[in-house]
Amino acid sequence: MLTGGCLCGGVRYEASGAPFHETVCHCSMCRRASGAPMVGWFTVRREGLRFVAGAPARYASSTWAERSFCPRCGTPLTFESRDFPEEVDVTTASLDDPEAVPPRDHTRTATQLGWVRLADGLPRYTDARDDS
Ligand SMILES: [Zn+2]
Ligand SMILES: [Zn+2]
Repeated sequence: MLTGGCLCGGVRYEASGAPFHETVCHCSMCRRASGAPMVGWFTVRREGLRFVAGAPARYASSTWAERSFCPRCGTPLTFESRDFPEEVDVTTASLDDPEAVPPRDHTRTATQLGWVRLADGLPRYTDARDDS
């Protein structure tokens, strides 16, 4: 069981089931939504994610996806795509122990910032990962 939540502690979640699609996304929308140069994500089945304190605010970040965040402190929490109705992406850095779910690759590196230098040796995909 993975546990996490926002910075202020108002929203808490539990994620059960094995996480998959652990990645660091370099797309411009993740960047803007987080205010960070890149965003770590992992994916779980939607029925595996349960909010145990508070409730995130949601908005349509594009015509095909919704993001959620803490309505008080703004921590980005989830991403849900209409194309993957069984899945929900959760921000790795909102976990209590982000070390438990390290990324396996980098995605959307076509829009990686030029001043970001990475030497972690992980696979890189210019758009989405090949298998998704
Ligand atoms: Zn909060
Ligand atoms: Zn992204």
